[in-house]
Amino acid sequence: ITILAVETSCDETAVSVVRNGREVLSNSVNSQIESHKRFGGVVPEVASRHHVENITTVIADALKTADITMADIDAVAVTEGPGLIGALLVGINAAKALALSHQKPLIPVHHIAGHIYANHIEEPLKFPLLALIVSGGHTELVIMRDHLNFEVIGETRDDAVGEAYDKVARTINLPYPGGPHVDRLAAEGQDSLNFPRPVLEGYDFSFSGLKSAVINTLHNKAQKGETVPPEDVAASFQASVIDVLTQKTFEALEEYHIEELIVCGGVAANKGLRARLDAMAKERDINLRIPPLNLCTDNAAMIGAAAYYYYVKNVRADLNLNGKSTLDL
Ligand code: ATP
Ligand code: MG
Ligand code: FE
Repeated sequence: ITILAVETSCDETAVSVVRNGREVLSNSVNSQIESHKRFGGVVPEVASRHHVENITTVIADALKTADITMADIDAVAVTEGPGLIGALLVGINAAKALALSHQKPLIPVHHIAGHIYANHIEEPLKFPLLALIVSGGHTELVIMRDHLNFEVIGETRDDAVGEAYDKVARTINLPYPGGPHVDRLAAEGQDSLNFPRPVLEGYDFSFSGLKSAVINTLHNKAQKGETVPPEDVAASFQASVIDVLTQKTFEALEEYHIEELIVCGGVAANKGLRARLDAMAKERDINLRIPPLNLCTDNAAMIGAAAYYYYVKNVRADLNLNGKSTLDL
């Protein structure tokens, strides 16, 4: 089964051709990061306009790279949500047009299911597994006992980790998106600022207090005329994030007797987090898998991978399909 997948939930226009959920024939991405940089974040109106301008070219590129025509495609998949509504609609309308004009089934895909299935491409998912999702809009711990079977055991009550990274980056004047810059700086600094490790009961997370602690510390030091090396801010913030994420993740693995751990979403690209997860997994005989960097951030290959299982389960959308800014897994 060959699926053409479209992803436009945020600021990447992405189209991919994926066979049987694992074989990526093409993975075309047009990133708008440069256009949003000067605003310090994604501007929804700007994102939608860019998607409109780029979607046709990215579709053509994905087909050309896969060396395939629409005649060889079995189904068209598209991210239904969650995401920016105007951005989602561009991908959804393009996917509808392709499905209608070429008489192909249309498959709606959950964006976070896509992030999880980014791990299915190099090696098939093994169940039961625990997924740690750390992206720009989500921080969740999810148990999967079978394909497309999601049990959310914990999630953030306020900011997502990626969001906290981007906000902290802004306070130390790093460009958008801040995550990779904070990651790079953190490697050069010391965990000297003793930021809190916000740990809640159960498996929920909270990162807004940590973000405020960073801002307040910098503010108080500035009032006393003291400066803090930005690399120490980055290192201290990152140390707190990594402590909290790994503590909860390994607690959950133990409580639920799960030995497979997958990590996904943009923050899964974080070098410090990857290194700590790797060390802890080795110590505890946990099988850890994290996608390659280009499959951590938004892409359509992950949507095509998940879409195969929606296809098999006979999940279909009709031409009334709408974008959803929020959507349960
Ligand atoms: P969602 O998937 O929740 O809808 P999104 O699609 O915007 O949100 P992703 O594209 O998965 O999120 O991830 C983007 C986020 O990942 C940004 O917040 C970015 O700063 C962060 N990020 C990317 N690389 C790194 C890194 N090396 N360290 C920390 N954060 C990173
Ligand atoms: Mg993005
Ligand atoms: Fe995403």
